[in-house]
Amino acid sequence: MPDVATRGLRVCALYPDLMNIYADRGNLLLLERRCRWRGIDFELGSSGLGDELDPEGADLFYIGGGQDRDQRRCAFDLAEVKRDALHEVARRGGVILAVCGGYQLLGHSYRMAGEDLPGVGLVDLITVREDGPRLIGNVAIEVELEPGWRRVLAGFENHGGRTYLRGDAEPLGRVLKGFGNNGRDGFEGVRAGGVIGTYLHGPLLPKNAWLADWLIARSLAVAGPLAALDDGLEEAAHADARRAAGV
Ligand code: GLN
Repeated sequence: MPDVATRGLRVCALYPDLMNIYADRGNLLLLERRCRWRGIDFELGSSGLGDELDPEGADLFYIGGGQDRDQRRCAFDLAEVKRDALHEVARRGGVILAVCGGYQLLGHSYRMAGEDLPGVGLVDLITVREDGPRLIGNVAIEVELEPGWRRVLAGFENHGGRTYLRGDAEPLGRVLKGFGNNGRDGFEGVRAGGVIGTYLHGPLLPKNAWLADWLIARSLAVAGPLAALDDGLEEAAHADARRAAGV
């Protein structure tokens, strides 16, 4: 893969200091390791509050989870400063991975404690903080990222917000175990081309290394599978996570 090896993967983490709970750094580390193990260069940049976002500046944009209070600061910044750039990334088929708090901000709004936080409107969904307990626990979902390629994603969820897909928004997967978007409709996450939102963390990518590879390949527009790695440990973690979720 000479083209990939010379170009490398450029990842941009949005608000890495504020939107970063439940192993978001682990997700970024795993992307780095799986690139470097294959001789693919890796570059990690970041974009914080007030920073303009260059839609061509990275191959993969990452938004992690956050507490409501930190999410609030980021929501206004995303909507006011970075919205157009993120829409441009999505338009050109770039990859945006958003986890939990970040996922909630991909939609139209996050209603919490009497206030509507704006979303970036990349996907047709809303999130509402309703009465009732937080949705916490191990979770497993079935996904089909490519036609006919069904896999299980295993992880952990902990969110107060309930997310509802609208219109023709497509879920990322079908809940096998856990709550997913809202604990009611059996859907989890959202997928629109290269834009993926999910409630799974704990951490998402080390427990599902195959998803990391899919993201790397898609971000670099590599046709065909990446070079195989010795994934014994990752597969054991995946099996443990599936066992914990009871699937
Ligand atoms: N603050 C959001 C919620 O509770 C997201 C939490 C998270 O990222 N884990 O719904």
